[in-house]
Amino acid sequence: MPVPQSAPGKASASYDVVVVGAGFAGMYMLHRLRGLGMTARVYEQGSGVGGTWYWNRYPGARCDIESMQYSYSFSDELQQEWDWSERYAPQPEILKYANHVADRFNLRSDIQFDTRVERAQFDEESHRWKIVTSDGDTVTAQYVVLATGCLSNARMPEIKGLDRFKGKVYHTGHWPHEAVDFTGQRVAVIGTGSSGIQSVPVIAEQASHLTVFQRTANFSIPARNAALSEEERQWFRAKYADIRYFAREVSRNGIYTEIPDRGALDDRDNERRARYEARWSSGGLTFMSVYNDLALDKAANDTAATFVREKIAEIVKDPATAKLLQPNSHPIGTKRICVDTDYFAAFNRPNVTLVDIKSNPIEEITAQAVRAGGKDYEVDALVLATGFDAMTGSVAKIDISGRDGLTLNQKWAEGPKTYLGLMSAGFPNLFIVTGPGSPSVLSNVIVSIEQHVDWIADCLSHMRAQGCEAMEASKDAEDKWVAHVNELAYATLYPQANSWYMGANVPGKPRIFMPYIGGVGPYRKICDEVAAKGYEGFAMTGAEQPRKLAASS
Ligand SMILES: Cc1cc2nc3c(=O)[nH]c(=O)nc-3n(C[C@H](O)[C@H](O)[C@H](O)COP(=O)(O)OP(=O)(O)OC[C@H]3O[C@@H](n4cnc5c(N)ncnc54)[C@H](O)[C@@H]3O)c2cc1C
Repeated sequence: MPVPQSAPGKASASYDVVVVGAGFAGMYMLHRLRGLGMTARVYEQGSGVGGTWYWNRYPGARCDIESMQYSYSFSDELQQEWDWSERYAPQPEILKYANHVADRFNLRSDIQFDTRVERAQFDEESHRWKIVTSDGDTVTAQYVVLATGCLSNARMPEIKGLDRFKGKVYHTGHWPHEAVDFTGQRVAVIGTGSSGIQSVPVIAEQASHLTVFQRTANFSIPARNAALSEEERQWFRAKYADIRYFAREVSRNGIYTEIPDRGALDDRDNERRARYEARWSSGGLTFMSVYNDLALDKAANDTAATFVREKIAEIVKDPATAKLLQPNSHPIGTKRICVDTDYFAAFNRPNVTLVDIKSNPIEEITAQAVRAGGKDYEVDALVLATGFDAMTGSVAKIDISGRDGLTLNQKWAEGPKTYLGLMSAGFPNLFIVTGPGSPSVLSNVIVSIEQHVDWIADCLSHMRAQGCEAMEASKDAEDKWVAHVNELAYATLYPQANSWYMGANVPGKPRIFMPYIGGVGPYRKICDEVAAKGYEGFAMTGAEQPRKLAASS
């Protein structure tokens, strides 16, 4: 199909769809929109495609879901032709893949880089959105798709004196494009979530001394990363149809793995230990799939948590350091479990020190040092591995106003409210990819992205066929969905952790469990059923009956 020509991004240009963000979600959305013959403009604040993989260039950055699965499935040619070099590809390779996709599907001509979407305002007369961008343009679109990413708003910690520090300060989520060499330097890493855990072993090899400031010890499973052989790639390629089907339709987390048939306490100690050992040896996130009740039953969860704590004690030679590294504040898996390469072993190096800032909080940063517990740790460079204002952070930074001038930030002041994670009542024709209330970050996110983008594309096509010009989630359907999301979450152990799933890492953020925990496969069925029932819970308005959206009452 010929690619429709969009108008250039000049003042008063008008599009069928404006997409915000050119990560994996925005790129695939654009591809689908073109297939529908719709005009689209993608705005991306970065200078290139790739989103997460464009921004997170810190040492050791790589995916934690195997690359043969953490990749697009929408094009069989693409998945057959692309060669992943390692089991978990490093960031530069994933970014290269994103660029390859942009070129292969000729996406760049409709993406405007270095441009933020600042404001989006719904006009109730015309049923169109007015979008204001950072370059001063105003464009209109019938639909807006927020493909802004769940982990794209890097969180700067509020530490006294940070601005006075004389050395270099890096945030893992905003890493410079040129290589950073820490050779001979004294480096501090603040934060021991996934980015800290990936970067510590690599920085430790360069730095003259590395001081790691840990508030919360996290569970981490060895990646067992290795080069992929041609045989392994061929195995995946031959089975891709089954693997992708399973990930999309059957799995809970978008990953091809066996479904456990028993609970942890159904096995005797020896059997259980053997199973955990086997998973520890094979490595990766599927450690949590050994048993079917690890997220549900604290006693079951304790068996896995204890196993990992014992492993940490085996690896880390200094008993006091090992004890600090053993997580005790939350059940295993209730914060996104980390996947590492030699993280715990890094603390056996003579040039690595662990500082517990739970009991000795950072008091301030001086010109040359991090001061914690009354002691100055002198450093030349600071690495802030302090994570993200997750799931809602990038959406909140856009001034979005819907029906009656209500802003999305006002509506979400007590926590995000959506129907299916896809739309929020009062904001017609505004879609969110992997929004709060959908499996998103509890899954292989590319699987969830593809599902949402396909659902949105099918929905737009349906609306066009029906002559509808506006669509909106009903308040009633949204309330029921929010209650359902909460009910499922609180039946698990997840809310027990102070996690970014709960917004707990951002001071003042409402404590709401944001993602949908019911599983990728079941969630997809719900979305498909909603569509099959004529988009149940959504109101659609035809061109001949403007301004009457029954759903918003
Ligand atoms: C270090 C790291 C490792 C990860 N590893 C994995 C993994 O192994 N497996 C997994 O499933 N997930 C992983 N994730 C999650 C990852 O974010 C998703 O897998 C996926 O890349 C998200 O794609 P996206 O397009 O939805 O969002 P993003 O990749 O975040 O892209 C969103 C884009 O929107 C842009 N944007 C935001 N607001 C605006 C605005 N107002 N105007 C213009 N542009 C805007 C941003 O600049 C960004 O480029 C990881 C995340 C991080 C941070």
